[in-house]
This record gives sequence, C-alpha cells and structure tokens, in this order.
Amino acid sequence: MAQYRKRRIAHGPNKNEEKVRRGQEAETRSRSTSLGERFPAVDRLILELTVTAPQDGSVERSTRDISADQGCELTLGCPGRCGRGVFDLAAMVTAAVEAKNPAATGAAVCQEPFLPGLPDVCGVKVDCRLTITFKP
Ligand SMILES: [Zn+2]
Repeated sequence: MAQYRKRRIAHGPNKNEEKVRRGQEAETRSRSTSLGERFPAVDRLILELTVTAPQDGSVERSTRDISADQGCELTLGCPGRCGRGVFDLAAMVTAAVEAKNPAATGAAVCQEPFLPGLPDVCGVKVDCRLTITFKP
C-alpha cells in the first residue's frame, strides 16, 4: 500500500510578510525616538492624513500634531480590508526636513493584495499634508 503523507512545504517569509515586519520595526523604532531626537532642526510637525477607501469612497481624516519632545510615529497601518498594509511617512518627512520645506504633500496607495495570490490590491489611498515648524 502506498504511503500517503501530506506535507507542508516550508516557505520562507514572503515579500508581504517581510514588508509588514519592516513596517512594524520602523514603528517600534519611531515610538522610542522623539521628534527632536530624530529631526533636531524641527520644533513641531503636523501631519494631516486623509484616508480614502476605494470600495465605498469613504474618507477619513486625522491629524497628528507632534512637538519636539513627543515620540514621532511616522507610520500608519492601513485601515483597509488588506489588514496588513503599512504606510511609511518617514521618507516624505525626511525629504521635507532636509529641504527645509515647511509644507509638503504626498500620497500613497496600499499595494497589499486582498488575498494571497490574487492580483487585486487593497487600493486604500492616503494623502498626507505636512506642516513643519523649524527651530529658529
Ligand atoms: Zn491596505
């Protein structure tokens, strides 16, 4: 009699899992660092976030007002159906700070698939408006 044994093939972490892990690490790191430690030239940072869901067009707005002594959290977990997307705002903030740009805007779309193996992506869009007050 032939032996039949179901085997799970051990997969390494896929791309998405790695991406999420990096996002979580970035979040942990930014929580432990204050805005002033991370960006010494910055006195205050205001992030205005507008999250648009593609399925029903619902819009959610939030504002983060961060002063120099507060922890600067520069990631945003995707509120969409993917359940695991992470928007990383750090690159945008860093670019604006380095350019001494007191106001900047940016946008990102969540590229996480709804279900593994399907081509449909989450598609939640985040628009971000930055207002930076530099130290005199
Ligand atoms: Zn998403």
